[in-house]
Amino acid sequence: MIDVALCIAIEHDPWLVGLAVIICCTGAFAIVQMFERVRNTLGIQRFGWSFLTSVAAGATIWCTHFVAMLAFKSKVPVDLDPVLTIASLIVAVLGTNAGIFLAAMRSHRMLPAAGGMVFGGAISVMHYVGMAAYRVDGIIHWRWPFVIASLLCASLLAGGAFTALCAERTSRFRLGTGIALIVTAIAGLHFTGMTAFRVTPLALSATPLDPSEMNALAMATAMVGFVVIGAGVLAALIDRHTRSDAMQRLHHMAMNDALTGLPNRLSFQQTLRRQLATARATGGRFALVAIDLDRFKEINDVHGHKAGDDVLTLLAARMREELSDEDAVARLGGDEFMAICSYTDRAELLARVERLDRALKAPLPIGTFEARVGASIGIALYPRDAVDAETLTNNADLAMYRGKSERASGPCFYNPELDEAIRDRRDLASDLRLAIQSGGLHVHYQLQASVSTGEVTGYEALVRWDHPKRGPIPPSVFIPIAEENALILQLGEWVLRRACMDAMGWDHESKVAVNVSPVQLAHPELPQLFHQIMLETGLPPRRLEIELTESAIMADRERALHVLRQIKALGVGVALDDFGTGYSSLETLRAFSFDKIKLDRLFVAELENNPQATAIIRAVLALGKSLSIPVLAEGIETDAQLAILQREGCDEAQGFLLGRPVPLLLNGGTDDRPAVDIPEPQEQPRASDAA
Ligand code: C2E
Ligand code: CA
Ligand code: CA
Repeated sequence: MIDVALCIAIEHDPWLVGLAVIICCTGAFAIVQMFERVRNTLGIQRFGWSFLTSVAAGATIWCTHFVAMLAFKSKVPVDLDPVLTIASLIVAVLGTNAGIFLAAMRSHRMLPAAGGMVFGGAISVMHYVGMAAYRVDGIIHWRWPFVIASLLCASLLAGGAFTALCAERTSRFRLGTGIALIVTAIAGLHFTGMTAFRVTPLALSATPLDPSEMNALAMATAMVGFVVIGAGVLAALIDRHTRSDAMQRLHHMAMNDALTGLPNRLSFQQTLRRQLATARATGGRFALVAIDLDRFKEINDVHGHKAGDDVLTLLAARMREELSDEDAVARLGGDEFMAICSYTDRAELLARVERLDRALKAPLPIGTFEARVGASIGIALYPRDAVDAETLTNNADLAMYRGKSERASGPCFYNPELDEAIRDRRDLASDLRLAIQSGGLHVHYQLQASVSTGEVTGYEALVRWDHPKRGPIPPSVFIPIAEENALILQLGEWVLRRACMDAMGWDHESKVAVNVSPVQLAHPELPQLFHQIMLETGLPPRRLEIELTESAIMADRERALHVLRQIKALGVGVALDDFGTGYSSLETLRAFSFDKIKLDRLFVAELENNPQATAIIRAVLALGKSLSIPVLAEGIETDAQLAILQREGCDEAQGFLLGRPVPLLLNGGTDDRPAVDIPEPQEQPRASDAA
């Protein structure tokens, strides 16, 4: 019997076997492509992709199985149970879905293998349910060792396939191994499973199924399978394409300026590094060109941001036009651009940047008006000026800043002698910013005393900076730097707060005088700051005085006078500093009622040898008298100078003779009623008496 059974179903239709193999391979390809999508999506998308993949997987397994079954030229009558046939398809879809979903989860490294084994199990269950639907007219006999071998083969190979698909390897390895193992799992199961299946025919004489019917059925199954699998692959490919499009758009957005479409800073830095590497390797040279527009802020302020945007877009297009294809130009931010220009000789480069300069200066038609912008251009050359990206960029910037500050008419090449001074100031400025923030500044106090009684009337607060590397730096150096960088606002606020706090700690009621820079005075919120700091520290306004020079008022007279009146209204005194060196305008003295005139030390220094100096002092003292403003003379260094001032009837004095600027800490360093020794006045007529 067994012998008969063995010879029943060994003949195959080679064409249909080939078709089954093609379905299996195409399907496996679809499964791995789609499984990538499952792994790379999350939430509902992952759910959707998992389902689509399992539909393709179910179709692959089911169609492979049925076409292969139809390839058997059975000698017994064959019949298919429709319910079980459909059930086998549903089992294939649902089972593989569970496996795929499990395998795509990233929470445990064994999950791909486990999911793969579930997938393999689904192939097996599909096969055996499918076999149950295969009704033959005979006695079916199962060879169990082969059944078990088929189950193991399917689940282990599928487990391996999904482990490979989730491995941290190249996509070629993952996909190649995945496809090979899935095909082997399906085919291995099928052929081992078929070896396990034996039929002893009951009616050998019966006519087998019509081969043309078999072929038609196989072709129909294959076609449906291909359609399903093809749809899955297409969906995966379209999805991947849209994703890569989106990635490209994101990349473009990250590397380019949205307004002008030029590369941005990040992208430019990469280009510069590449350019440097090439130049180093080939011994080439190139120029780095820093470009900063000149009147851009004006356009923005006067004509609005839309006009500003138009200017930037037009100028970006002009720059691109002027530069060659190998050159790069980028917008670093605001109205700052930078370009890389390759060149062979300097004359050629010069001609090119001059053309660029002209293009930037040419009128720009914006809506109904014509804008003229222009730019400052600085150039640093590789390898002459620097060999690394950072220094080269810095040097191009320095040359550009020099061009801007000197209002140069054309591009400026980096010049170590000229530009190092600027670099030094920039370094100092950043050190100063740090010093303000980290408590690197101190305040010293220099007393001011009454010339007639010697009584201390106040202390001038003078800021001090001990640079960690360069040692003490005089305020005449760092105050102008702070003013250029608007750091003076922070510095001035710090000095004011410190001085008020210190004065509150003194055990006498002396005034404290604080210097106010013209830049601070231009700030309309200065009176509020004074008010706030006096509230904070509790210093009564009558103990506070500010010192400012005439230049502070001259810059923007109306605004400055307005701010000054507000400060005075708080009860704070206002002294006119360095009188005699600036405009010395009577108009200034008339426009505002100062509480003190501080005569510059220049005149005091000349007192002993220059009779004209005495005449000037006399005139200023007379002016003070007539306006009822006390006069303080600065820079008293000798007894003789003090004696003359006493004789001329000066009100107050300040200088090294009376006291150098010193740190005055809480409750220390001063007497209860501070005073200095003033010699007895000599018997000589006073200026006022003489007049
Ligand atoms: P200033 O307001 O004219 O300050 C007086 C300067 O004269 C101080 O120089 C002081 O040390 C110096 N001095 C005082 N007595 C004598 C003397 O007898 N002989 C000589 N040769 N010099 C004397 P310092 O401290 O170097 O300050 C220089 C300038 O820096 C100040 O001139 C002031 O304009 C500015 N400054 C100092 N501290 C501040 C501050 O906190 N804020 C602002 N905005 N400026 C400040
Ligand atoms: Ca002063
Ligand atoms: Ca002064």
